[in-house]
Amino acid sequence: MESLVKTYASGGKRATDEVSLEVADGEFLVLVGPSGCGKTTLLRMVAGLETPDSGRVSIGGRDVTDLPARQRGLSMVFQSYAIFPHMKVRQNIGFGLTMRKVPRDEVERRVKHAAELLHLEEYLDRYPAQLSGGQRQRVAVARAIVVDADVLLMDEPLSNLDALLRLQFRAELKRIVGQLGTTTLYVTHDQAEAMSLGDRVAVMREGKVAQLGTPLAVYDRPADRFVGGFLGSPPMNFLTAHVRDGALAVGDATLPAPDELSTWEGRDVLVGVRAENIQVDASAQPGWVPAQIEVVEPTGAALLLTARLGDEQVKVQAPTTFPAEPDQHVYLRAAPESLRLYDPATGLALA
Ligand code: ATP
Repeated sequence: MESLVKTYASGGKRATDEVSLEVADGEFLVLVGPSGCGKTTLLRMVAGLETPDSGRVSIGGRDVTDLPARQRGLSMVFQSYAIFPHMKVRQNIGFGLTMRKVPRDEVERRVKHAAELLHLEEYLDRYPAQLSGGQRQRVAVARAIVVDADVLLMDEPLSNLDALLRLQFRAELKRIVGQLGTTTLYVTHDQAEAMSLGDRVAVMREGKVAQLGTPLAVYDRPADRFVGGFLGSPPMNFLTAHVRDGALAVGDATLPAPDELSTWEGRDVLVGVRAENIQVDASAQPGWVPAQIEVVEPTGAALLLTARLGDEQVKVQAPTTFPAEPDQHVYLRAAPESLRLYDPATGLALA
């Protein structure tokens, strides 16, 4: 994708604003971002279902910008998995091959293989109405992978599934696409899904790519406040700190700064810190910051604490063994290397 711009006739703003992205051969790249950020528009331009105002799309080194969708060597799975109700699973999966006039015995063989990959063998002679939502979704995926396209495009393919099925199928999808090694571009608004599936994720905001990187890199070092707030549950904490004598003053407390901050001396910065990087203790220790617990939420694996630290609220992940009570006074500490600093005016990470 090279400088892709798309403005819809009805809306003045650009749905995608000069987006350039390269998906490596065999890579699984996830486009993730809040509703309306332009993910689907970008995917549809790659698919050939939407014409860019400007910019180019190339696949395997071939410029396909002016080619119709069917000549781009793509396979697609969409949220509304359009499987045909009047065809059995077998015919649904083989549909793309039959259309391409693939010989019947080869269709048979490839359908069988795709059905095996998706655990659908025993449903091949059923109609879609006789399947669960998750099974239908698997049929849609089987139908997309059976044609063995160069590129697989998926737009929220799991969104019709309930939470548990979604988690199960997410892992299956990762296994299958991993085995096939097909270059994949995948759209979701679900940050956990993006992190779980992507070799890399492109976090989008208002028609642009805010950050591109491996899930862990983007999670660990968000390029700006938006990305830190979007990825992760809970979102990254952001505290306003005043730089004093090279250290970070948050209210009455002082945190050691992770980086050299001389150019920020006397000014405010935003400190980004993840809930799991904050330690909590009931008794005072040198260098720990006093805070007061407001809310205690057990998540099962941990306790999510909302604590007040001066004028700020922070989310802290504590072990379930920590005896936390609302209104309790506690002490917090974050290792300096886990702190990320941002410009409060622009929200961008300090270099
Ligand atoms: P979602 O997660 O809600 O599907 P998205 O990130 O996929 O969102 P797009 O569907 O690409 O976002 O939409 C990007 C912008 O373009 C939005 O502001 C949307 O309102 C606008 N838009 C999308 N499709 C059309 C259309 N057919 N006509 C006019 N505006 C559109």
